[in-house]
Amino acid sequence: MKNFQALGLSKGLADAVQLIGFETPTPIQEKAIPLLLTGDRDFIGLAQTGTGKTAAFGLPLLELVDENSSATQALVLAPTRELGLQIVSDLENFSEKFKKLNIVAVYGGASISEQIRKVKRGAQVVVATPGRLIDLLGRKAVNLSTIQYVVLDEADEMLNMGFKEDIDEILSKTPETKITWLFSATMPREVRAIAKNYMSDPVEITVGDKNTGNVNIDHQYIVVHDRDKYSALKRVLDFTPEIFGLIFCRTRIDTQRVAEMLMKDGYNADSLHGDLNQAQRDKVMMRFRNRTVQILVATDVAARGIDVESITHVIHMNIPDEMEYYTHRSGRTARAGKKGISIALVSPKEVGKIRQIEKTVKTTFIRTQVPTGPEVCQKQLLALMKKVHDVKVNEAEIEAFLPAVYEELKDITKNDLIKRFASIEFNRFLDYYRNAPDLNVSGQSNDRGAERYSTGDRFFINLGKMDNLDKADLLEMLDDCCGVGKKFVGKIDIKGAYSFFEVEKEKSDAIIPGFKGVEYEGRQVRVELTEGRRESSGRSGKESSRSNDSKRQGNFNRRGAGRKR
Ligand code: AMP
Repeated sequence: MKNFQALGLSKGLADAVQLIGFETPTPIQEKAIPLLLTGDRDFIGLAQTGTGKTAAFGLPLLELVDENSSATQALVLAPTRELGLQIVSDLENFSEKFKKLNIVAVYGGASISEQIRKVKRGAQVVVATPGRLIDLLGRKAVNLSTIQYVVLDEADEMLNMGFKEDIDEILSKTPETKITWLFSATMPREVRAIAKNYMSDPVEITVGDKNTGNVNIDHQYIVVHDRDKYSALKRVLDFTPEIFGLIFCRTRIDTQRVAEMLMKDGYNADSLHGDLNQAQRDKVMMRFRNRTVQILVATDVAARGIDVESITHVIHMNIPDEMEYYTHRSGRTARAGKKGISIALVSPKEVGKIRQIEKTVKTTFIRTQVPTGPEVCQKQLLALMKKVHDVKVNEAEIEAFLPAVYEELKDITKNDLIKRFASIEFNRFLDYYRNAPDLNVSGQSNDRGAERYSTGDRFFINLGKMDNLDKADLLEMLDDCCGVGKKFVGKIDIKGAYSFFEVEKEKSDAIIPGFKGVEYEGRQVRVELTEGRRESSGRSGKESSRSNDSKRQGNFNRRGAGRKR
């Protein structure tokens, strides 16, 4: 295997790379660096994220740029701020010895005047997200007429995010003579069109099969009812004490909720989503990067481009709506040649989507089971014992305290001591998992106490505090009118003249028909679904499986049913 200098890099750069800890070039680096160093060919590199793309284009770029000229010579476009900053940081690390080189990051969510100031001071390399660069161009704060090299990094991601027009505009402002290097994990039609319109006779190289996911990712899925997903997540986390993981949720609300529930339950977790401002996001990312936070719960958009080393697991609380998101999510693990595990928690209805993803990424998913209570306990116990085994003893300092400790424990045998010691930490798990049900769908899932995170469907009802409605009344109505028991009902929010309540998706079809014709203290009850399908209780629908007239106990009534209490 070649080293970096053998690829044609100068000794200075090769040494810098070695110092960072890159010993041998990755396949994309081995193929791209010699080609790009010539500086005279357009280039397309098809490679998944995490394969070492940044050094593959960054090192040749640093060789080609003239640090003695202050003109802006290279432009790198990246889809997200996170990726942009990552690229800048990598380039700065590689080029520590290039004292006159200025690399400036241009991205949204931070002071534009500060970025303008830095660009104007003379930036040979600008790394930008397309939107903010357009702002700078609008203010005539950046001159692209001297650009010699353009890098489009994660081109498919940029197009997915709707940057097509911005890219067109930016490229139109660069000289015809520039050299363009395009990197992309996939090659959809839109990326081909960019290549066709802006590149001439590009060399194309592919690392791995362009439609195959990263082979170092072990793809697994667990089938579990929506209502048991949070409990299943906790089992997976408890079964993997050494996890350093990223959990994906579909919405900001779910993200926040899962993170809060995990924190409340004693996990070292935090959340990353679009409701956080930039400073908050930076703080969370810093804490995750330096491992102060062990589990990060994130939305797809917020987690784009995250490059955090050694993420062991990516967990999907549900299958993403967009198939490509699955690749982007799972690609956060198994970076730089490491192994990683991606686990999707899917409801029985979602299993079909796993088959679709298998076809798209040409990978087989392994179905795994939610660990049982005894399995979790065993794993935790062994992890604890390993910790005891591996702990570093500070002989000098502990020495003075030991006689008293020996005296206190002198009547206890070795085996008894081990038992008691293990129990101190371990009783918590034993208690929690003593009667833990089997959450696997094939098994009996009767975990009535399971904490729910799923929002299910959210309904509006035209009754509230003004009607003397409280949570218990609403639960009673749902049970009696719709046959939907308490365990299927999520958050209830009683307002003044109306209320909201959530119902697990599998039961939500019973709600609107169930309330049809029902009156509450003489008022016609009106129920509507707040998101997704829109129906009103005035329309006919499937009847609930249970008779609406049976077991009615509250002060509500079905009009025409002839009974009123
Ligand atoms: P990238 O695809 O550029 O985002 O790189 C993914 C990760 O691999 C980053 O954390 C890099 O620091 C690391 N990396 C890149 N090239 C090498 C190499 N030759 N040896 C070891 N690690 C590398």
